[in-house]
Amino acid sequence: MKIPFLSFDGMHPPIAGDLQAAMARVLASNWFIMGQELKAFEAQYADYHNIAHCVGVGNGLEALQLSLRALNIGAGDEVIVPSNTYIASWLAVSQVGAHPVPVEPDFATYNIDYKNIEQAITSRTKAIMPVHLYGQACEMSAIKAIAEKYNLFIVEDNAQAQGATFDGLKTGAWGDVNATSFYPGKNLGALGDAGAITTANAEIAKRLQMLRNYGSEKKYYNEEKGFNSRLDELQAAILSTKLPLLDKWNQARQAIAQAYDERLSHLGEQLILPKIAEKSSHVFHLYVVRTAQRDTLQTSLNTAGIGTLIHYPLPPHLQNAYKELGYQKGDFPIAETLADTSLSLPIYPGLTIDAIDYICERVADGLK
Ligand SMILES: *Cc1c(COP(=O)(O)O)cnc(C)c1O
Repeated sequence: MKIPFLSFDGMHPPIAGDLQAAMARVLASNWFIMGQELKAFEAQYADYHNIAHCVGVGNGLEALQLSLRALNIGAGDEVIVPSNTYIASWLAVSQVGAHPVPVEPDFATYNIDYKNIEQAITSRTKAIMPVHLYGQACEMSAIKAIAEKYNLFIVEDNAQAQGATFDGLKTGAWGDVNATSFYPGKNLGALGDAGAITTANAEIAKRLQMLRNYGSEKKYYNEEKGFNSRLDELQAAILSTKLPLLDKWNQARQAIAQAYDERLSHLGEQLILPKIAEKSSHVFHLYVVRTAQRDTLQTSLNTAGIGTLIHYPLPPHLQNAYKELGYQKGDFPIAETLADTSLSLPIYPGLTIDAIDYICERVADGLK
C-alpha cells in the first residue's frame, strides 16, 4: 500500500466541475485582480465567522504581517508568540520591526499555555498572537481576559484551524485582527498562495484594504506606503467554491482522528495521542503523535510506503534565522521536546478506513 502524507483526491475530483466553472467564470470576466469574486469571497468568509469584515490578501504570512501593521505595531514593540509554532508567526512580528517574545505551550494540547503569558508581559508588550496549532483552538477566554487586563491586542494565527471553535465561537473571530492562510494544504486551501484577515473593526478593515493595495484607496492616490498583497480573482473563485464544503471536510478529518485514536490507544505510554481541551474543538489540520522512538518510527513507516512529516523539526528560537536573539538549546524545553518527539500521520478527507488500518498496524510494528 502507498499512502501519501497529503492527497487532494477526496476533495477536488468530486467538485471538479464546480472548480472548472469557477475558473471559466474568471476567464470570461476579463477581470483578474480586486473584482467581484474577491468581494463575494470576502463576504462569504466573514459570514462563516459571523464577523463583520474580511480582507483577502496574498498569503498567510502577509495576512499576519499586515494585521500587526494595521494595529500600528512596529519597532520597539513586543508581541507574545508561542515557542512551538511554524516560523511564519514569528517572522510576521520581525517583519514589522517588533520583537517576538516566546511563551511555552501546554504539554497536553501543544498550544500556547495561557498560564505562562503574564510573566512574559513587559511595558513594551503590544499584542498576544495565539496560534491554533494543528487545528485545535487555543484557550481563548483565558487569553482574552489577560489581553483585557493588560490592554493588549489579540492577533490570532488561524492558518491551521479554519472552522474550529472555542466555547462555541469560531477561531478567527476572537481577536482584534485575525489572520489565516489558504496555502493549498490548509483545511481550506486555494490552488496556489492566498490568505485573509478577519476583524470586527471597520476602521481596521479599511486600513487593511489600503495596506494590501499600495496604501491606496483611490487608484493612483496613496495614503501611506503600502504593499502589494492581493488575493486574485481566480483564487477567490476557487475558495468560494470550496468554503461551503469546509465543515464537511473538517468532520471527515475528525472522524479519521477518532479512527486513529481507537486503533492506536492500545499502545499506551509508547505513543502519545492528541488531546483536546474541554472547550476547544479540533479540526485536525494535522494528527500529531509523539514517541521517544520518533525517527525509527518515521523510517519504518516510510519503508512501508506511508508518508509522514514532522511539525516542526526545529523550533523558531533555534533556527539560524533567529541567531540574533541568542537563544540556546534548553531555553524552551517543551518546544524542543515536541520537536524531538512529534510525528504527523496522514490525515485528509478521502483517507480510507483500509488505509487507516494499514497505517495503524505499521505504527504498532514500528514501535516493537
Ligand atoms: C501556513 C502557516 C502560516 C503561513 O501561511 P502562508 O500562506 O504559507 O504564508 C502561518 N502560520 C501558520 C501556523 C501556518 O501553518
